[in-house]
Amino acid sequence: MKIKVLGCSAGIGDSRRTSCCRLDGDILLDAGTGAGELSLQDLIGIEHVFLTHAHLDHAGLLPLVVDAAGHFRDRPVTVHALDGTLSALRECMFNGRLWPDYAALPSPERPFLRYKALEVGATLNLDGRKITPLPARHAVPAAGYLIDSGRASLALSGDTTLCDAFWEALARVENLKYLLIETAFPNADAALAAVAGHMTADLLAAGLSRLRRPVEVYVTHLEPGREDLILAEIEAACGGLSVRRLRQGMEFEF
Ligand SMILES: [Zn+2]
Ligand SMILES: [Zn+2]
Repeated sequence: MKIKVLGCSAGIGDSRRTSCCRLDGDILLDAGTGAGELSLQDLIGIEHVFLTHAHLDHAGLLPLVVDAAGHFRDRPVTVHALDGTLSALRECMFNGRLWPDYAALPSPERPFLRYKALEVGATLNLDGRKITPLPARHAVPAAGYLIDSGRASLALSGDTTLCDAFWEALARVENLKYLLIETAFPNADAALAAVAGHMTADLLAAGLSRLRRPVEVYVTHLEPGREDLILAEIEAACGGLSVRRLRQGMEFEF
């Protein structure tokens, strides 16, 4: 399995792109503005989109992803997410006002997309690629994902503040190799992080202390313009641990 990072910022500006990774050639993990890096041919090859949650920095390009490839495909793109995320997409995005209801268009028999609800902890097996939603604590219904190739696993936090169930789930993954985790805010914004459901460097250090095995950690979703401050705080809080900044274009093969 190969994961390529297409976007990993909390916002836009200059070369920043928001959350999106491609897994092999056929799966997107979130559909933030990083999805705009894909060629039309790449977009036609996307069969599944797994969303961590409905916020626009993670789902904003989903309508355009579905649209771009629709007429070149003979089957719908499957959008996987928690029930609460799917209802937000139905009611607020593919509602016939903001964008067409592509779960029923161009025709109910041949729609451009279909929804598939996921449950935290329930593993989906796509040709031997095991994908399991992980618990998260965010301002809206949200999940991380554990992706297991059989040889190794990569965990993606999505947006979350410190979440006991997330770290407990990671502690049970014996072949965990990579952790891609958000650290959106500087420590000074700890109160805001609690309300908005995001991590700070201090919360990251608290979480990482609960890992039971060496894991390569990459931080993502840094606030635009405050990246250096957040990274310096992570260095201070997590010194001695292998914590690196996730970068657009990075690839993980496992
Ligand atoms: Zn969010
Ligand atoms: Zn976000």
